[in-house]
Amino acid sequence: MTEDLLGRHRAVLPDWLALYYQDPLEITHGEGRHVWDAEGNKYLDFFGGILTTMTAHALPEITKAVSEQAGRIIHSSTLYLNRPMVELAERIAQLSGIPDARVFFTTSGTEANDTALMLATTYRRSNTILAMRNSYHGRSFSAVGITGNRGWSPTSLSPLQTLYVHGGVRTRGPYASLGDDDFIAACVDDLKDLLGHTRPPAALIAEPIQGVGGFTSPPDGLYAAFREVLDEHGILWIADEVQTGWGRTGDHFWGWQAHDRSGPPDILTFAKGIGNGMSIGGVVARAEIMNCLDSNSISTFGGTQITMAAGLANLTYLLEHDLQGNARRVGGLLIERLRAVAAQVPGVREVRGRGLMLGVELVKPGTDEADPQAASAVLEAARAEGLLLGKGGGHNTSALRIAPPLSLTVAEAEEGAAILEHALRSTIQ
Ligand code: PMP
Repeated sequence: MTEDLLGRHRAVLPDWLALYYQDPLEITHGEGRHVWDAEGNKYLDFFGGILTTMTAHALPEITKAVSEQAGRIIHSSTLYLNRPMVELAERIAQLSGIPDARVFFTTSGTEANDTALMLATTYRRSNTILAMRNSYHGRSFSAVGITGNRGWSPTSLSPLQTLYVHGGVRTRGPYASLGDDDFIAACVDDLKDLLGHTRPPAALIAEPIQGVGGFTSPPDGLYAAFREVLDEHGILWIADEVQTGWGRTGDHFWGWQAHDRSGPPDILTFAKGIGNGMSIGGVVARAEIMNCLDSNSISTFGGTQITMAAGLANLTYLLEHDLQGNARRVGGLLIERLRAVAAQVPGVREVRGRGLMLGVELVKPGTDEADPQAASAVLEAARAEGLLLGKGGGHNTSALRIAPPLSLTVAEAEEGAAILEHALRSTIQ
């Protein structure tokens, strides 16, 4: 059945829609941290948490809120007063840490970043943007234009002038051997060097931990050090929290807080999991920045009552159940367990990340060379044993990405780690 669907998929959908697995999966339903495919196979989902389902699959509290709202009204989100949108905006404004915050809802992370770029360029009257090497910010024309990860940047044309800053990765290359302080100093020098050769940029956009880039964590303090330089020039800081927000990193509610000497960003973007599968994206900015646009700008589906109902139910659940604390505790156990495995499997170069956002970087054993084939093989082997993982990384997708729903239990973390260990040992010789 899945095979037939694959043929039909290939016949009508674009070639550039990448599917995981040689025999792609059709996921038909889920519950908690598990999903099932069309053939009835059950999988522990170590990736869906960052894609869509931040909290848990088919969570009754959210299903109820969504179906009740669907039975009441879904109408224009912006032309009339919209109570769930106001309520969710109030909560996000308060949680964001941004003073005098205004919130605008979109339907995706791409549209959120696009809006952030429109705000920053208009506010600063500059179409030059600083972005990080290896970054990913979405698929619209302007978001692609600031995406440093060339594997995810399908056109080289851009309406923006983009300058790429070092700081995202130090797995290999000239910065690989540097300690944290020297790495930060080298990246700050690189930033200063760029600023010396350009018109004043509007903003630096950065993911506190790079997502598509393979869950690479810059050292704490990197963005605080950048911020000092940016502030001297009045350049805005846009934190793309599409993957790092809502407690996923365990120690912090937002990824930027790991760099908190930098203070809150000028603009923060979010998306993915906050709707637990319903499409919510958004931008938070100080009022003077949010209100700098010249005329009306609405989004038909951004902030619809049904997505806002999902967001409110999801946010309530995750705060009441302290899922940030769960990410810290369970993620802490998981990273320890995986680092112990890494010490014994020669092809695992590092296990990195925070909370329930962990990356496992694979190299050809005994070398520093990225091993994307090994990453694909481990992904397949884990799937065969009932575990879904993600892949990511710079030019080579040589990192495994682990991002389960935030309600992951200790027993499930142990089960997933055991499968992953077996998949690594059986794949990497
Ligand atoms: N920013 C980051 C950091 C992302 O990881 C993504 C999606 N992978 C996006 C933006 C784009 O979000 P969307 O796919 O919802 O447009």
